[in-house]
Amino acid sequence: TTADLIDEEHRICVCVRARPLNKKELTMKDLDVITIPSKDVVMVHEPKQKVDLTRYLENQTFRFDYAFDDSTDNDMVYRFTARPLVETIFERGMATCFAYGQTGSGKTHTMGGDFSGKNQDCSKGVYALAARDVFLMLKKPNYKKLDLNVFATFFEIYSGKLFKSKLRVLEDGKQQVQVVGLQERDVKCTEDVLKLIEVGNSCRTSGQTSANAHSSRSHAVFQIILRRRGKMHGKFSLIDLAGNERGADTSSADRQTRLEGAEINKSLLALKECIRALGRNKPHTPFRASKLTQVLRDSFIGENSRTCMIATISPGMASCENTLNTLRYANSGVLF
Ligand code: ADP
Ligand code: MG
Repeated sequence: TTADLIDEEHRICVCVRARPLNKKELTMKDLDVITIPSKDVVMVHEPKQKVDLTRYLENQTFRFDYAFDDSTDNDMVYRFTARPLVETIFERGMATCFAYGQTGSGKTHTMGGDFSGKNQDCSKGVYALAARDVFLMLKKPNYKKLDLNVFATFFEIYSGKLFKSKLRVLEDGKQQVQVVGLQERDVKCTEDVLKLIEVGNSCRTSGQTSANAHSSRSHAVFQIILRRRGKMHGKFSLIDLAGNERGADTSSADRQTRLEGAEINKSLLALKECIRALGRNKPHTPFRASKLTQVLRDSFIGENSRTCMIATISPGMASCENTLNTLRYANSGVLF
């Protein structure tokens, strides 16, 4: 029926967000090759050269649920992406929101918050905004009477393995709930969640010679879990994925880098397949193909699952190839 079709369609929302040209790109006089002519269209103007050396722009158009230009702030992005999924977990569903894109395109800025200034502010990221709304929703009479408890967890998937040990600094001997070996924190308010995000974020960037070196190779998973009398009621997974350009590392001279690249490739492909299966309501979901999709298993097979992908793109001409790869990947989530 039409109602079913509409329902199906709303299980996946795919959006694109372009960031402004940054200082480095401006210094290098890189050109902005992206235009967003309407609220759901992205155009890439790729500079090309004919055999006779005449230059021309090859224009490619992509359509998504929403396209956010470089003047859009996190609040607005959140409102159209993760915000509608908050209700899902109160209605006993599973919600998932991914940030997908090239390293430096704005995944962490979108999910984790603003880290450009000296004052690292995670309160403006999608993680924090979602947490805030979970606590607001909890106060509504309909949900208040359910007597729900909120838990949060933040961990990483790196080289196909789970890393949660770095978050041990947060343990304080208080009550802890163990689920598939991951530590969940009992959180009472948005502030509690902000602390968790802060520590999680700093763990991702510290201890590295290059701030982006580690975070570009790992998937960061932040989850908000609602429990009722100890039983799972709903779960919201928010994921800052590894840089999608890392898949190309499979030809690197360094063995470790090669293996990591292959692992990232595998997990991003598996993720795409799982999202497609969710959209088509296919009986077979290939979540076993990677650690990332295994972790999200229950979000892919649940009756009441909704997913949102935020594909982030760098506007510069120098990033054109990566940008097109990102848009094509995101597009496959739309075309089902
Ligand atoms: P990624 O996590 O995809 O590697 P980041 O989120 O770290 O990328 O972004 C790279 C840089 O660009 C950061 O300095 C960040 O503050 C900045 N940036 C990203 N998105 C935006 C945006 N929408 N507006 C302003 N600056 C942004
Ligand atoms: Mg990042």
